[in-house]
Amino acid sequence: MTQKKKGENNEMGKVAIYPGSFDPLTYGHIDIVERALEIFDKVIVAIAYDAEKKPLFTVEERLEMVKIIFKESPNVIVDSFKGLLVNYVEKTNAKVILRGLRATSDFEYEFHMASMNRSLNTHLDTLFMMTSKDYFFVSSRTIKEVAKLGGAVEGLVPDLIARRLKEKFKLPVGKKKLIGWDD
Ligand code: ADP
Repeated sequence: MTQKKKGENNEMGKVAIYPGSFDPLTYGHIDIVERALEIFDKVIVAIAYDAEKKPLFTVEERLEMVKIIFKESPNVIVDSFKGLLVNYVEKTNAKVILRGLRATSDFEYEFHMASMNRSLNTHLDTLFMMTSKDYFFVSSRTIKEVAKLGGAVEGLVPDLIARRLKEKFKLPVGKKKLIGWDD
């Protein structure tokens, strides 16, 4: 009989960690979270502090936005972490790292990261979910590029994010009020 590993059958149920930059969160990310909730009892959206990348939004700004977006979803926990993902995962009840795959170009990097994380912690598995047909072309990077040039990103990111992008790039936000983002 195999021994129970950390995180199995605990009071939180099955937990997955969805780590990433989420700079900013898109409907592609949200779609992955919603589909993961069909498999897991809880999904932790874990926003990484990444010294290598120059983010548009600070981690604090991203945390605030993502928390608002999932405020009606009690099974989604929004958090941030510094340093190695495997060390952060150790502190949670999760056994599974969740990642999304859009194209073969994602595969090589993801394959190396998953293999590295598995070698750092052999109890950890990475689960890949294929993007939905509606979002295969959506990435935070292209969203930022389009938004910066004044292109419409509504429908690809939640309205809150579209408004915050316009604010960042100092573009006209429209008639909607600029405060009270939780509408
Ligand atoms: P990272 O910088 O860690 O890649 P991202 O925020 O860009 O963080 O992405 C987090 C995860 O979400 C990654 O696994 C990425 O492949 C996945 N992802 C991003 N956009 C989409 C999308 N449109 N459909 C499916 N998965 C996606």
